[in-house]
Amino acid sequence: MVPGMTNHGGHEPVFCTVVPPHVLDKLAQAEDPALARPARRTLQRDAFERTQRRLTTVIGAPAVALAPDAEPDKPQRTVYDARHGTELPGTKVRGEGDEPGKDATVNRAYAGLGATFELFLKAFERNSIDGNGLPLDATVHYEEEYNNAFWNGEQMVFGDGDGEIFLDFTIPIDVIGHELAHGVTQYTANLTYFGQPGALNESMSDVFGSLIKQYTLGQTAAEADWLIGAGLLAPRVTGKALRSMKEPGTAYDDDVLGKDPQPATMDDYVRTGRDNGGVHINSGIPNHAFYLAATALGGHAWERAGRIWYDVLIGGELKSQALFTDFATLTVSAAKSRYGDGSDEFQAVQKAWEQVGVRTL
Ligand SMILES: [Zn+2]
Repeated sequence: MVPGMTNHGGHEPVFCTVVPPHVLDKLAQAEDPALARPARRTLQRDAFERTQRRLTTVIGAPAVALAPDAEPDKPQRTVYDARHGTELPGTKVRGEGDEPGKDATVNRAYAGLGATFELFLKAFERNSIDGNGLPLDATVHYEEEYNNAFWNGEQMVFGDGDGEIFLDFTIPIDVIGHELAHGVTQYTANLTYFGQPGALNESMSDVFGSLIKQYTLGQTAAEADWLIGAGLLAPRVTGKALRSMKEPGTAYDDDVLGKDPQPATMDDYVRTGRDNGGVHINSGIPNHAFYLAATALGGHAWERAGRIWYDVLIGGELKSQALFTDFATLTVSAAKSRYGDGSDEFQAVQKAWEQVGVRTL
């Protein structure tokens, strides 16, 4: 397939919510109704939105035209306010180039869309999510006590959180980036959202989500926290984020939320039917491989490790059913073709997969 080309042929779309269903299931069982109620409501909403997403895909999403005044190197952002309802997209509150308003949530969503656009353009010469200037839309203040955020295939949607477990979902910029990166995967390798290809899909979003945060903060691989969703958990929760790429399985360990279930290596690979076959669980393994490669190389992670991962994502050889081994093998050959056989990059990538127990062919 041509890099950057749309691939919509017959695949189930990704409906990824930031907070995976297995976490909300656990919360829904909490004894305290103040914790259980928002989780149950969120699960119901997510089920509804997931169905909507399927219908949209079957019928065919409307073609998105580039705004007539769009410049190829500028984002086209629009932020809407759902005013605690569920009608999408809601009322327009900020368009491209508009001054920031009083609502910090609107401003964070606008900035997050911009940061995502910026990384893909500056680091990878990609013009928006589809490579063709796709306008970036986001809706904030979705529903009440809504404990999630998602990309529905056409736009971003953010809840305010219940304030008990989760805070405002526009807070972590890497979460915004994670969701939009699902759009990039959807338009390129279109990894199937189940089992190992699904965990690779999730991992791509964590990798690019983290790179967006690192790029925005100007951090090196050594300086980055490698957390996904830092700042999202309310103070009462014992935990620092949703996931850790540096130390998968250590992001949280909480009475209500349970313990972060992510493995770091194939030795602890989790076989499960939950969470689409563990897409948010086993993504810890490729996440950790990226972390290991990026920190071994040092410097800005988007420059070399990120470039190799991106090369594979858009290169046309990554099949939608790819397993960890397939992806790992492609990253090693991408490192070889871009940087040379025996280069630091080639060695760092090969060693990273070895360390997490994924075989390269
Ligand atoms: Zn995701």
